Amino acid sequence: MEAFNPEEALQSAKREFGEHGGVAPSLSRSATFTVLEPRTMPEIFKGFKGPEKGGCYLYSRHFNPTINVLARYLAALEDTEFAQCTASGMAAISCTLLQLCRAGDHIVASDTVYGGTHALLESMLPQMGIDTTFVDISDHAAVKAALTSATKVVYTESLGNPTLKVADLPSLSALAHKAGASLVVDNTFSPVMITPARHGADVVIHSLTKFINGASDLLGGAICARREFIYRLMDLHTGRAMLLGPSMDPRAAFDVIQRLPHLPLRMREHSRRTLHIAARLEKIGVPVLYPGLRSHPQHALLRSLVNEEYGFGGIMAVDCGTAEHAEQLLSVLQNKEAFGLIAVSLGYSDTLMSHSGSSTSSEIAPEDQKKMGLSPGLVRLSVGYTGDLQKRVEQIERAVKAVGLTG
Ligand code: PLP
Repeated sequence: MEAFNPEEALQSAKREFGEHGGVAPSLSRSATFTVLEPRTMPEIFKGFKGPEKGGCYLYSRHFNPTINVLARYLAALEDTEFAQCTASGMAAISCTLLQLCRAGDHIVASDTVYGGTHALLESMLPQMGIDTTFVDISDHAAVKAALTSATKVVYTESLGNPTLKVADLPSLSALAHKAGASLVVDNTFSPVMITPARHGADVVIHSLTKFINGASDLLGGAICARREFIYRLMDLHTGRAMLLGPSMDPRAAFDVIQRLPHLPLRMREHSRRTLHIAARLEKIGVPVLYPGLRSHPQHALLRSLVNEEYGFGGIMAVDCGTAEHAEQLLSVLQNKEAFGLIAVSLGYSDTLMSHSGSSTSSEIAPEDQKKMGLSPGLVRLSVGYTGDLQKRVEQIERAVKAVGLTG
């Protein structure tokens, strides 16, 4: 397959200049938009006119000019035809699944997904008649066995949260398509680094809250897909995003637009530092999980999926064995060594660290956590890029030694 250069794709997307020749795009905050002639209005409602058909906007829960600029850039980055942004990553996930599935339909999902997604699939969607079978997404025989004639979606994260299980996207796409289902991929952990649409994904989802915005100061989500799918999602009478209404604030969209140009630089540095720290910890005998390490069983698979130059991602995990040890490590790392901050979320300039089992995966029952390979002592680290790397290595080395984690 021809190599994809996401940085160049982003740069080549049609540039949006602001009013008066601004190098930054204008921020369009209007909730509603006027038309010159009354007959234009019914044409917009019938779908004959719109942002791409005559430059007509209607109302910002539908399309908004600033959000459309961000969506266009994200579609370029993900190599999809089109995109739409939402108020959060969860809004992007729930609207996508409700658009693709009706009562009686079925989803095959990775057992290793963000806890909120797991709860949506396990507890909420069944109340609407949409059932999910969770599988080990790297066990293709299990995926195949779970597919039924009612399956509409195969759902996975490119790198599973928090165990970093790597999804073999080309194989999953082949399996899903053969069964008449769509492959939906949450690429929140690996923007720029992995381009799921190049590997057969039909819909690519992001929590923009994380790496893409990178400043931990806003929430956002994105759905990148074929134009036809986004138009269905935004249909004024039936579109799930239109009817449920989780619209992004144009001010948030403007901020993300301004931070997109340095996303590739940030991802490179997140990856470089994470690999350095993970390799060092591995060397001194710490049980570390990072698919960027050559010793990781899925390293070759990850290598086959990544775009050149962006490394293997900014998330790693340390297995402390028990929740008590995990809490001890977090306490030393934050309160003694100032290595990072105990906080959920990821993709920030500073290192963010959390005990997954009792926080972002706490929606998943302990026996299911065990099945998906989530150790009760797992600490997830979203490695930041601030400060001197050598000093950071010394801090974490002292911390793991202090809690007796070295082999
Ligand atoms: N997807 C992944 C992989 C996540 O880690 C998260 C949040 O932690 C979400 C989706 C949800 O995103 P948001 O918090 O923006 O709704």
